[in-house]
Amino acid sequence: MSGAAGFIGSHFCDRLMAEGHQVLGLDNFMTGDARNLEHLGANPSFEFRQCDVCDPVAVDGPVDAVLHLASFASPKNYLEHPIETLDVGSAGTRNMLELARHKQARFLLTSTSECYGDPLVHPQVETYWGNVNPVGARSCYDESKRYAEALTMAYNRVYKLRTNIARIFNTYGPRMQLDDGRVVPAFIDQALQGKPLSVFGDGSQTRSFCYVQDLVDGLYRLVLSEERYPVNLGNPEEMTILEFAERIRRLMGAKAQLEFKPLPEDDPQKRQPDISKAKKLLGWEPRVSLEDGLRQTIEYFQAVGQEEVGR
Ligand code: UDP
Repeated sequence: MSGAAGFIGSHFCDRLMAEGHQVLGLDNFMTGDARNLEHLGANPSFEFRQCDVCDPVAVDGPVDAVLHLASFASPKNYLEHPIETLDVGSAGTRNMLELARHKQARFLLTSTSECYGDPLVHPQVETYWGNVNPVGARSCYDESKRYAEALTMAYNRVYKLRTNIARIFNTYGPRMQLDDGRVVPAFIDQALQGKPLSVFGDGSQTRSFCYVQDLVDGLYRLVLSEERYPVNLGNPEEMTILEFAERIRRLMGAKAQLEFKPLPEDDPQKRQPDISKAKKLLGWEPRVSLEDGLRQTIEYFQAVGQEEVGR
């Protein structure tokens, strides 16, 4: 698995191990964190290699599945590293596909709802082709993932590789980076510190937040399926960013004020997955409520904060 030390990658490793699989995790730690895998260190079924998948990857022995999760994923990170973002979506995906081809393994690409850009169809269904600005600030991410999807389909068609493509919508949970700029860790961090919550724009833009355990369950089911076309994975409960700020305030008993900041370039106005396909095909839908998921996430960030203070 590439991106194994990342937020979603590390939870996916946990799930694979719990299902009895052997996992080789790859990560270059650009945004991944070794602490996310510390608990797997002593497990003989887990092996880790620090490497950049933009270089060719060789693995000894048989491989059943190549799971390609490596990528920058938060707007702050990909805007800081646009070229590396394009590289991992293109060269990185090619290398992981080549590995799958040589091993005759199946291949999973973790793609993104950003393929839909600032969508003109709502909620977003997999057959919608998207409304992406190819030269805007976010294009490094959107277009690299769209290219990665095209490359995955080409390997499927040319080499008959068994491939799956997950389009992941906003996901949150423990092991997110506190400072990656995304709205969930940003608001929780601000509320913990008694600072105002930074709402971008007027907060009327919408998002739908999926708890990481639900997401990983969807990924696992998808890898076991024969579906080669993209499948949306996300929680369809949609809310405005203002409503989300209100939920955080209520949950954390925080009186934090709101601080309005400029809306980032090409920030999608609406985002909500249509998950009919995943429901029908994989028997999957999210089970963890936003309240429960946020509680777990807040607890995690509180514990991390205490550890940092103790250092
Ligand atoms: N956002 C916000 N305040 C923040 C960070 C993000 O209002 O401190 C907004 C952002 O403009 C976007 C939404 O929250 O509309 C989700 O942003 P995030 O970076 O989490 O992910 P995105 O969905 O944009 O990839």
